[in-house]
Amino acid sequence: MTAINIVIIGYGGMGSYHQKELMPHELVNVIGVYDIAQKAQDKAREAGLTVYDSLEQVLKDASVEAVLIATPNDVHKALSIAALRAGKQVICEKPVAMNVGELDDILAVAAETGNTFMVHQNRRWDPDFLVIRELYQNGQIGDLFQIESRVQGANGIPGDWREQAEHGGGMLLDWGVHLIDQILWLIDNPVKSMAADFSYVLGQEVDDGFILYLTFENGIRSLIEVGTTNYSQLPRWYVKGLNGAAKIDNWDLSGEIVVATNQADLVAPAPIKAGVGLTKTMAPPSEEATKKVAITEVLPEFPSFYQNFYDVLRNGAAPIVKNDEVRKVLSLIDSVFDLVKS
Ligand code: NAD
Repeated sequence: MTAINIVIIGYGGMGSYHQKELMPHELVNVIGVYDIAQKAQDKAREAGLTVYDSLEQVLKDASVEAVLIATPNDVHKALSIAALRAGKQVICEKPVAMNVGELDDILAVAAETGNTFMVHQNRRWDPDFLVIRELYQNGQIGDLFQIESRVQGANGIPGDWREQAEHGGGMLLDWGVHLIDQILWLIDNPVKSMAADFSYVLGQEVDDGFILYLTFENGIRSLIEVGTTNYSQLPRWYVKGLNGAAKIDNWDLSGEIVVATNQADLVAPAPIKAGVGLTKTMAPPSEEATKKVAITEVLPEFPSFYQNFYDVLRNGAAPIVKNDEVRKVLSLIDSVFDLVKS
């Protein structure tokens, strides 16, 4: 089986990350990079990489089978279409495009040319997400009915194109697309209703965070929250099931899973002094009523993104990140922008 020769377009933070990740990979081989910025070109040369002078040079090079687009979001569409039309297979970074209209233009060219177009929704492989997915599927804490997914930073929006609307900046398009992709992939059920609010604490032209509430037709509710001004953080995940709850504090999988023991002969909770009052409702469960279970790593039962790209091209495998799923995520994001504007 021959390796896929790939060129990375956009050798900034994520482009160089891909290059490092792919270095030991035998099936996808980075043969060069293309970037419009001198600084990025210099960095690539220092790393010993071949640097292409122009996009045309990449697209005309018959030894290039695929390109990986890791540029700011507003140029994903033009680069993807140019590459597909030149007969290249394409991996595109998230968010795939600025809106669904742009994505549909890309998908039309992918269909017309028959070339592969895959979006790097890599957080489907995140260990914390895989634990939640396992809980969702194995019923350890009963059917989940509330799923809260948060990421909270304290450093504002990175001082680059992410601060500018024309480049597709803002946190809904940045982190939002990851968290929404995880939730829609997990729950796989139509959204019945939603509510959303953006935050502009930093006074910039794009959202520095948002809160999104989704209610699915199957009754599950999800809260998705992204913040960049949080000096103290809430857990990455808080989920409630009919028979327990789970809290994952961060990407290191610290936290707890609490499972109700459901013993018929349990003593009813006694009132506790709470602040300057008394409560039975808010008393913690007795020791016998629950047990704590350690959070353990769950390995994905599906191959890595790069392996899957290879399998799609060489072995006719189905993509793990499907374009109709990516379209649903972007369509929801479009609706959130419309909702907040109205
Ligand atoms: P960056 O600013 O660090 O790098 C972007 C690079 O693209 C720059 O070097 C810039 O010169 C180059 N560039 C701009 N326009 C170009 C063009 N027309 N042709 C060639 N090169 C061009 O940005 P980044 O953080 O690397 O983000 C790039 C993309 O990767 C974005 O879409 C972002 O959302 C995505 N990203 C994904 C993840 C993830 O986990 N999947 C993480 C970070 C970023």
